[in-house]
Amino acid sequence: VYAQDLGFIAIGAPDGLEGFNVVIGGGMGRTDQAPHTYPRLASLIGFVPVERVVACSDAVMAVQRDYGDRKDRLHARFKYTIDDKGLDWIKAEIEKSMGAAFEEARPFEFTTNGDSFGWNTTLDGRRHRTVFVQSGRLTPRLLDAFRDVARVHRGTFRLTPNQNLVIAGVEEGEKEGIESLLHAHGLSEEGISTLRKNAIACVALPTCGLAMAESERYLPELLTKIEEIVARHGLGDEAITIRTSGCPNGCSRPYIAEIALTGRAPGKYNLYLGGGFHGERLNRMIRENVAEPAILEVLDDAIGRYAREREPGERFGDFCIRAGIVREVTEGRFFND
Ligand code: SF4
Repeated sequence: VYAQDLGFIAIGAPDGLEGFNVVIGGGMGRTDQAPHTYPRLASLIGFVPVERVVACSDAVMAVQRDYGDRKDRLHARFKYTIDDKGLDWIKAEIEKSMGAAFEEARPFEFTTNGDSFGWNTTLDGRRHRTVFVQSGRLTPRLLDAFRDVARVHRGTFRLTPNQNLVIAGVEEGEKEGIESLLHAHGLSEEGISTLRKNAIACVALPTCGLAMAESERYLPELLTKIEEIVARHGLGDEAITIRTSGCPNGCSRPYIAEIALTGRAPGKYNLYLGGGFHGERLNRMIRENVAEPAILEVLDDAIGRYAREREPGERFGDFCIRAGIVREVTEGRFFND
């Protein structure tokens, strides 16, 4: 949610949904040789009740329409408008356009990241099955399985922002049949590491014309090597966010991952460490334009130190900051410092 121009954090009430905390000005895209471009985390500006959420969205877009940079494409995103004009000024303009003030943001806490695999039940009693789709690539086996499920499923299919698929709205009586179909096609999350389940890659080569390096076709083998490092250092099934993008545009949201690669040339990447597990902190580049051996060497060292020196419950990204492996990025505009 911190990677979006406009994000809503749902705030529940005992009898349903109270409204949303609103975050604005997130964005991942940057350009390697242009230090005035940078990723930015969205800023929390307040709370709106449910009935004002459309007016709020409209107002945010109107402010960017009126004050966004139309001349310099590298500077056109809302995140730069906010940093140029100031968050308070932008917030006041949004309130003027919305015709109401933001209420004070409600307290909240993120306790998980990624998708909840397997079967889940929502408050309305319906069942939903989240299926792991590695790097979002629909292999022939997955396509066959989803086709067979679609023939009997009366609910919907949903794609998640983490590249997986939810077979949604399953009646209790149909759950077993759907699970058997998935099983018949050999689909199961059993034995897949948490590291792998949390990883995201952009499409890159051969689909994206902007790609400078492999991403979704490379991530599975990179993960196998990182899993080996993690196991060698005696860490269990650790949850560490890992993301790869084929270029600095960052479609896989790499700059908020604990470990990230962005492509520079075939086989060459920038390596970043120190993002927040929940996407609440940007990471920082530790190696520029390097090949896999150099990447694995840095990861081996950092993960080894993490295994030996971490505090109870400490996340890998937090450890990288505390141990001084990378300096913390406190704001997007300091990303390139
Ligand atoms: S990040 Fe990936 S998908 Fe996005 S533009 Fe770059 S190569 Fe293409």
